[in-house]
Amino acid sequence: MTPPQVVVVGSYVIDLCFNCEHFPAPGETLAGTSRTGPGGKGSNQAVAAGRAGAPTLYVGAIGDDAFGRDAQAFYEREGIATHWAVKSTQPTGSAAILVNAEGQNQIIVALAANLKLAKSDLPAIAIDGARMVICQLEANLPATTHALKLGRDAGALTILNPAPLRPDFKATMLKHVDILIPNETEFVELINRLGLHPGKKPLTTTAMLKLPPAKLHALCGTIGVPVVIVTLGMRGCFISRADGYVEVPAFQVKAVDTTGAGDAFVGGFAAGLLEHDGDLAAAARHGCAVAALSVTKPGTAPSMPTRAAVQRFLR
Ligand code: ATP
Repeated sequence: MTPPQVVVVGSYVIDLCFNCEHFPAPGETLAGTSRTGPGGKGSNQAVAAGRAGAPTLYVGAIGDDAFGRDAQAFYEREGIATHWAVKSTQPTGSAAILVNAEGQNQIIVALAANLKLAKSDLPAIAIDGARMVICQLEANLPATTHALKLGRDAGALTILNPAPLRPDFKATMLKHVDILIPNETEFVELINRLGLHPGKKPLTTTAMLKLPPAKLHALCGTIGVPVVIVTLGMRGCFISRADGYVEVPAFQVKAVDTTGAGDAFVGGFAAGLLEHDGDLAAAARHGCAVAALSVTKPGTAPSMPTRAAVQRFLR
């Protein structure tokens, strides 16, 4: 097997997905349809990168239970390398995902074993040989910070998708990050939490979206991470780095389920960085293509496109 160039350290959860006409009101029981599948931001991003053609290693924590064994079997079928930390005291993480007729979602996640991922669980040798280390904020935070530090020390490009922006997130983590990829909500929350908004009132997403590029670029610069890429759903994303600001439009597709679009973008971006020799704008366009294809299908990991599908789409 090709040595992994992308190491994704992060959460695995089993997705318990329910489709319904509308979201239930408190006390309401609705009839719907259901399906289960592998999920978790870390795992989704590893699958997106791996399917899009990047030699990927996924590092995650699961319980010693049926859902954990399903996870291992899934990765064997996918042919993506894994390094599992099996936690006997915790169940495998799980998520209840409701999707309504408009393709919008509501999610509850029980992270369980993911929160027990330890620094000692990290495969330092694999991280040492990687070109990129990708993390999110669903797994144990000290272990996540350590993974970024190991990556940085080894000369890998470190990428953080700060999702979900947990209350215990500490800004010191950012000093190990080369590329930060929040969505618009996480970006605004991060700016407010770090006290970076110059106005008297906290920044809102609506106000952020109205800011001229020069102001957005300046705001990104205050975070202290060399590259900030903010994903904007159907609007695509923008890239802010020391030498400039670039907008990358989304692809027009018919969305049926946008769950995991952000994960598809991050994995697709990583694969795009390898395909396009580190060109950030080309990689972001690649991320948008992977994400666009993923939203045309239901589910999270199962909706991630293959490299061949992405190439056909971009032709
Ligand atoms: P989620 O939380 O659902 O995983 P997110 O909020 O983290 O998503 P978004 O900013 O919504 O991430 O989407 C990530 C990327 O996916 C966007 O930059 C865009 O390229 C693509 N995308 C999202 N929604 C659509 C859509 N309806 N059509 C085409 N592309 C989309």
